[in-house]
Amino acid sequence: SKEEPIHFIKNIIEKDIAENKNDGKVVTRFPPEPNGYLHIGHAKSIFLNFTLAEEYGGTFHLRFDDTNPEKEDTEYVEAIKRDIKWLGCDWGENQFFASDYFEKLYEYAVTLIKKGKAYVCSLNAEQIREYRGSLTEPGKNSPYRDRSVEENLELFQKMRDGEFAEGEHILRAKIDMASPNLNMRDPALYRIRKVHHHRTGDKWCIYPMYDYAHCTSDAIEGITHSICTLEFENHRPLYDWCLDEIGTECHPQQIEFAKLNLTHVIMGKRHMTRMVNDKIVDGWDDPRMPTIAAMRRRGFTARAIRNLCERVGVAKRENTIEMALLDYFVREDLNSIAPRVMGVLKPLKLVITNYPEDKEELLDAPNHPTDESYGTRQVPFSKVLYIEQDDFMENPPKKYFRMTVGREVRLRYGYYVTCTDVVKDDNGEILEVHCTYDPETKGGSSADNRKVKATIHWVSAKHALEAEVRLYEHLFAVENPSKGEIEENLNPNSLTVTSGYLEPSVKDAKAEDKYQFERVGYFCVDKDSSADKLVFNRTITLKDSWAK
Ligand code: ATP
Ligand code: MG
Ligand code: MG
Repeated sequence: SKEEPIHFIKNIIEKDIAENKNDGKVVTRFPPEPNGYLHIGHAKSIFLNFTLAEEYGGTFHLRFDDTNPEKEDTEYVEAIKRDIKWLGCDWGENQFFASDYFEKLYEYAVTLIKKGKAYVCSLNAEQIREYRGSLTEPGKNSPYRDRSVEENLELFQKMRDGEFAEGEHILRAKIDMASPNLNMRDPALYRIRKVHHHRTGDKWCIYPMYDYAHCTSDAIEGITHSICTLEFENHRPLYDWCLDEIGTECHPQQIEFAKLNLTHVIMGKRHMTRMVNDKIVDGWDDPRMPTIAAMRRRGFTARAIRNLCERVGVAKRENTIEMALLDYFVREDLNSIAPRVMGVLKPLKLVITNYPEDKEELLDAPNHPTDESYGTRQVPFSKVLYIEQDDFMENPPKKYFRMTVGREVRLRYGYYVTCTDVVKDDNGEILEVHCTYDPETKGGSSADNRKVKATIHWVSAKHALEAEVRLYEHLFAVENPSKGEIEENLNPNSLTVTSGYLEPSVKDAKAEDKYQFERVGYFCVDKDSSADKLVFNRTITLKDSWAK
């Protein structure tokens, strides 16, 4: 594979390897919470952790950070696995769940209590907030801070045994209520939540807090470099404090990098969940969503997403990437992999008046313009065709070279045809365009080498397959929709459902099959498609618009 660019995290890892830290090993992880589908921001983190492990001969773990039972579900676990596999980042055997460590984490908490480093606090939520102070004001010690080890052990056991109501007590770290870092002011380690967990069922009614569960899970798995996004920078002292006080054998190094942000989307799971629940979109994999599942369904490729993440790079400063850059990588990849077919989205009937009524022939067409390994196919041709409405103009402007009365154009892979006249209805709407063809120009060239300026695509009317075609634009009309109310910033034209006529070679196409409809754009078979009713998503338009 190609050489990956160097960045500050690699510099850290290479130094660690050179110093034989962690016996020179590299173990990374991606730790999703199964409370929603992955978005393209997560892809950046997945590629980063996966590639580092791969490049330094290390191991990549997938760990579900399932410590918040009310929002988590196995549906999300399965979706996350599907998406990471599709991105090409296989974790092999190394699949873990934080919930598998609940017993161990409980023991660690007991260790902290015994050391006098954790206590059961019985302030209510509001009081805890009050006591915490603010950025400009130190906090105050909880009146429960000096409970004896024995009392703490007994209360914590009773918390576990379900003897208290939610909110009655929490377990807190005993650090420093005057710390300038609010995360260090006796943060909560455990809270009582009497809810069913998707894996541990009703076994537990106390659940560890993120900061406590995350560092300990990393340590249990022998993670060497715990890579996370910048908002965790001021959680790092707590990460280190917990592991130092518990005295774990492994103490991973937390390293923060800048998130991936994109224009025209909202990526936070909280917001995406609302969009799904309020039916603003049609599910997590609605092709307008920024989720991996949506992008796959729309026809984006894993390689395009990876190329974007690589181009953006790994840095310490957050910025927002133009969606157009992702579009660029999608087009680039689809241009090289998508077979070509002909499809007409805005049909206009073209009748070849000198072509025999019941004649049919099959014309050879290459499936790819530059890659011969894609082979060729045969496209049926007959007297009545569909062409695009835009490829005919009765009164064309100067630079318009496509079809108009009296002009000869090339039908792609077919013949030269010369337009003779149009048939209109009573309102003057064009119903049909008539033309004659030159039988000597089969395949698209003439013996006398005469020039035609335009080549247009077509489908044979009687052979065409009708398909539903879904055209997408940005879900949001503004560049930074995170700034406002979701409803106010929606793009009313984000989905247009139309139909099209396609050449019959796509008859057996399956979900996710990708094509370029020549001169029109890139399209992908939707999961709603069936033999009776083909459904295509427009993945993306062609870069250059109508021409030539
Ligand atoms: P969100 O806030 O978007 O809902 P999250 O961070 O809460 O996402 P998790 O499942 O907890 O979702 O995230 C798993 C990992 O993905 C974390 O390590 C997190 O730092 C990383 N991650 C989340 N969003 C991004 C992003 N936009 N770019 C890069 N990494 C991200
Ligand atoms: Mg999270
Ligand atoms: Mg979040």
